Amino acid sequence: RLHTVAILGRPNVGKSTLFNRLVGRKQAIVDDTPGVTRDRIEGICRLGRIPFRVVDTAGLEAGPEESLAGRMRQVAMQGLAEADVGLFLVDARTGITPMDEEIAAELRRQAKPILLLANKSEGRIAEAQAAEAWSLGLGEPLLVSAEHGDGLPDLLAALEPYL
Ligand code: GDP
Ligand code: MG
Repeated sequence: RLHTVAILGRPNVGKSTLFNRLVGRKQAIVDDTPGVTRDRIEGICRLGRIPFRVVDTAGLEAGPEESLAGRMRQVAMQGLAEADVGLFLVDARTGITPMDEEIAAELRRQAKPILLLANKSEGRIAEAQAAEAWSLGLGEPLLVSAEHGDGLPDLLAALEPYL
């Protein structure tokens, strides 16, 4: 069976950039405008000889169930439900936001392994800020830079037990 990894997080944290980095193609649209990814996008990544499926989800925006944000949120949580492990991204440059905290609380309630990624961690200032992510109660944040590829070997090593 092909295992599945779902990429989660609020808009603009770099989910689509990480997806493209893992899948090795510019398949997901990367944009500064929040909410560009409306539907889930899937691709195949490889860890050594083990292939696994990666799902880029829409940003987990807070909002009422019947709103667009609410529907996007449901799609993302559905993506997690179907996955073997979730990658929860936060932005080490902006720091932890109330929306990150809300999503983290929801993820802690799921019985699903979650790896916490502090993205945009290139550079020393962001590296120091990334430690803030410990406060989310999801364990040790892995420092990565989806744009530059920093931390990818560590990320793949952390994923290995779930694949
Ligand atoms: P999404 O909304 O979570 O899918 O985020 P995107 O992948 O569309 O990225 C949002 C913005 O963050 C874009 O301008 C990216 O170029 C930028 N970005 C993504 N990853 C990194 C990173 O590792 N470092 C920096 N500095 N910027 C990044
Ligand atoms: Mg996106």
